[in-house]
Amino acid sequence: MFTSKIYKKSPVSIQNILLSTRALVRKKLRENNKCEQYTQELIAHEYDSEILGKYHDKTLHKTIKQARNTVEYYKSYDLNLKTFPFIDKLEVNSNKDKFLSSKKSGTVIKGATSGTTGAPLVIPQDMESVITEQAFINRGLAWAGFKEGDKRAWIRGDMIVPLEQKKAPFWRYSYFENMIMLSSFHMVPNNLQSYINAMAEFGVQVIQAYPSSIVTLAKYLEVNNEYYPGEIKSIVTSSESLTKEDKHLIETRFKCTVFDWYGLFERVAAIASCEHGRYHILTDYAHVELLPAGKAEDGRDRAEIVGTNFNNSFYPLIRYKTGDHVILSDEPNCPCGRVFPIVDSIEGRTGDYLIAEDGQKVHILNHIPKGVSGLLGAQFVQKEHMKIEVLVTCNNDFTTEQKLKLIDNTKERLGNKMDVTITIVDNLIRTKNGKMKQAICDL
Ligand SMILES: [Zn+2]
Repeated sequence: MFTSKIYKKSPVSIQNILLSTRALVRKKLRENNKCEQYTQELIAHEYDSEILGKYHDKTLHKTIKQARNTVEYYKSYDLNLKTFPFIDKLEVNSNKDKFLSSKKSGTVIKGATSGTTGAPLVIPQDMESVITEQAFINRGLAWAGFKEGDKRAWIRGDMIVPLEQKKAPFWRYSYFENMIMLSSFHMVPNNLQSYINAMAEFGVQVIQAYPSSIVTLAKYLEVNNEYYPGEIKSIVTSSESLTKEDKHLIETRFKCTVFDWYGLFERVAAIASCEHGRYHILTDYAHVELLPAGKAEDGRDRAEIVGTNFNNSFYPLIRYKTGDHVILSDEPNCPCGRVFPIVDSIEGRTGDYLIAEDGQKVHILNHIPKGVSGLLGAQFVQKEHMKIEVLVTCNNDFTTEQKLKLIDNTKERLGNKMDVTITIVDNLIRTKNGKMKQAICDL
């Protein structure tokens, strides 16, 4: 809707009405009694390992049985998960129709992964799946202390403000959701104070944002030695990877806890951080296997997330290799009391990397900008071997000296012979979904 001519040509007041009406319709479809009931069921079992275990086993069995009975790709397998093959995006893309269930579906909604490599994967799901997903989102919001009616801010990938618009307001209001929606596409340094003001004036209590968008605001506050001027209960992030450093930065500058959510459109795993900052594998959302994948830089064990989705019987994926990694934790349980297993952290999507001087892929780049003043954001672009362009948003403190420091840091991580250039830009590159990659490698 947001890219339609009618929306783009309407005055802001009409855009607010169009957007609010759309939100109301979506809310009515998703957040019905069934959703509410399911949310309560999910909340009820998270502190009881016996009930949760039974729920997980029952759902896994049902998933496998249904897949075997109604899905061509799985019809020859036993009811034992271990006999199923590992699959991945390429395998699913090459056998698209064979994963479709023959069961009656009603309304089918299609969505695509925004994957960084290869063709996007189109995944159909039925209304039940959409409602179940909503119940998990609602439980996530409950973890973050959100109560119905709280004032929210939303800074994600919706193109609610046409790209051509160069003047504030870069936000719209969704009346029935009591929510201010701010554009991720207009976050150039000169506009950032107006974003902060708009949220504070609205009296936002909970923020739902892409990590890159809220980090942009937190960095802005940091370089100006300021803190968010309002009182916020929590910030909920998802859809991009969030480093520990950035999480800490957001929590410091907004004076609240960040609840981060890892999920993917394939719906084969969900991992959520709680009020104690631990990442919990949600074993009622999917069955997750962790395949050993070597060691992290600090010597701890790394594992690949392989998941079986509980919540899309219309397009079941079993033992799906995500290509995403976690670092294992040695903590057996969390002070929050929830019984879901814990992982230490989720490593950046494996798509985000650069090729270093020695030909190795380097995934973790977040240490590079450390200690460089005046930096609001940085993004690494590599189009040729041995050449890296660092796109930078900054303020006046980003002097020549700081620039040289950033070049040195980059070389230190990727190789001394690397040709590193810095380009100051108004806005870093976002995908059409509004996501921002730390590294763009076209090799
Ligand atoms: Zn916890």
